[in-house]
Amino acid sequence: LTRLYGPLTALASARVDVMTALVSFERVFEVLDLAPTITEKPDAVDVPAGPLSVELRDVRFSYPSASSVSLASLEEVSVLDTRGGEEVLHGISLVAQPGQLVALVGSSGAGKSTLASLLARLYDVDSGAVLLGGVDVRDVGFDSLRSAVGVVTQDGHLFHDTLEANLRYADPDATDEQLWSALRRARLEPLVRSLPDGMATLVGERGYRLSGGERQRLTIARLLLAQPRVVVLDEATAHLDSESEHAVQEALTAALEGRTAIVIAHRLTTIRDADVICVVEDGRIVERGDHDELLAARGRYAELYEGVFETTG
Ligand code: ADP
Ligand code: MG
Repeated sequence: LTRLYGPLTALASARVDVMTALVSFERVFEVLDLAPTITEKPDAVDVPAGPLSVELRDVRFSYPSASSVSLASLEEVSVLDTRGGEEVLHGISLVAQPGQLVALVGSSGAGKSTLASLLARLYDVDSGAVLLGGVDVRDVGFDSLRSAVGVVTQDGHLFHDTLEANLRYADPDATDEQLWSALRRARLEPLVRSLPDGMATLVGERGYRLSGGERQRLTIARLLLAQPRVVVLDEATAHLDSESEHAVQEALTAALEGRTAIVIAHRLTTIRDADVICVVEDGRIVERGDHDELLAARGRYAELYEGVFETTG
């Protein structure tokens, strides 16, 4: 189904794409010049040490309505639209145990990306809670949250800054060798070596225009560098051609080892090995289980899965 977006006239309403959880929240709001609705508690705590569980507990969520977002600068805002206000997630509960891989599948518009953004606390829930290692993310300090949770998004949001700076947001203390190693594993090294300014190349609106796939590989490089304990991949390889997808997939698989992961996949073949697969439709989880259980259940997952095989052969 094609969704129709409202007219793009109202400047007061904006879709603010801040899916860059590896970046400090202060910095995001500085760039976007927004009044932050997400605040850090004065007595904020750290995410517990060690492998982390991730839990959504009966989460309800609606995007802030347009009028509650004040925009002083539209430069970094990718799309204007008039959505917001309506409830998008209607009571989602799910748990990923430490080290587990939980996959989310479902139609476009089901709420998968929204769910992913809540894990990095880009928004706060209306009711229910998001917990990391049993601690409510609203009680966690921004720095601790940022180092614990890494997100690779569909869009690969970057800052208008150098390639190096974009990478260093993930780990300010990284050595050059670590930066190059991350670029290599994300299959970006030849490109960066070929640029006259190399890692000092400015990227973003007024700089070198990376393709969708390159942007995505850069956010993957960032993830490889940051090694967060919780990894959220939102259709992380969607923009890659099949050759670099295969290569990057290998790097990602290695990067996921031993970590807790929530993976949103458009290719069902990539999520067959997930510990738990959740089928999301219209803001609800309508089915869950592992691949074999869900196929045997002959429900929505089986339908999606067989649809993929029909179209890909
Ligand atoms: P999926 O990732 O499963 O395709 P999304 O989480 O992107 O779904 O979208 C779920 C719903 O939330 C859709 O109805 C979509 O139109 C709406 N939505 C997504 N992002 C925003 C936003 N930034 N502001 C307002 N509404 C949004
Ligand atoms: Mg999405």
